[in-house]
Amino acid sequence: MIKKTLFFLLILVLFSFKSDTVITPEILIGKSSAIQPLLKGERIKLQTEVYDALQKMIKAAKKDGVHIMLVSGYRSFNHQKRIWNRKFDKYRKQGYSVKKCIEKITNYTAIPGTSRHHWGTDIDLSDKYANGLNNNKREKFNQWMTKNAKKFGFYLVYTNDKHRTGYKYESWHFTYKKLAKPLLEEYLKTDVFDLIKQQGIKGSYTFTEAFFKDYVKNYVLGINPELLKN
Ligand SMILES: [Zn+2]
Repeated sequence: MIKKTLFFLLILVLFSFKSDTVITPEILIGKSSAIQPLLKGERIKLQTEVYDALQKMIKAAKKDGVHIMLVSGYRSFNHQKRIWNRKFDKYRKQGYSVKKCIEKITNYTAIPGTSRHHWGTDIDLSDKYANGLNNNKREKFNQWMTKNAKKFGFYLVYTNDKHRTGYKYESWHFTYKKLAKPLLEEYLKTDVFDLIKQQGIKGSYTFTEAFFKDYVKNYVLGINPELLKN
């Protein structure tokens, strides 16, 4: 009996340790290496379950003549910061004000610490033969994804819906809802503002608490409403 109880206690401890490693504020903002053991993939990493679901989807699409290519997956805070700072420098050189630079960057790019790519649940996909410009091919990809992505657990995040706030329409960004939803819920309960200011994000000296609160409301929550439903 004691042995049995000890065994269950051990399982409980292991289990809570595992969930602890999943939901620290640092993990939510891409600043913890504790996410690494959960990730799978060579150059582009994803949470194991997401990776496996994606492989299944790629296989199924191929049978229908659609060649899905993974362009981006998990990104650390520093990776996102490099993207952000590069765009900031580019727009500043073009003569835009700091405020305008931030506005332009956030058309498509998240403030480091607020990207869904930090979670290993979100992916940017392309069609292998579309090359961005071949709209016919991209159309086939879009149609296939609209019809089939959900069967594999993937949802478009930044939909083409004029009532949606935040980032512009991204036909390439999908999320694995099952794992992303609890992470989003945790994110919304966590005060990450203090963790991301003064971290070398260019232009971040203009981020006030009010700005950030608005940003979370309009951008972090400016997503496909299906992702908020049970
Ligand atoms: Zn993306």
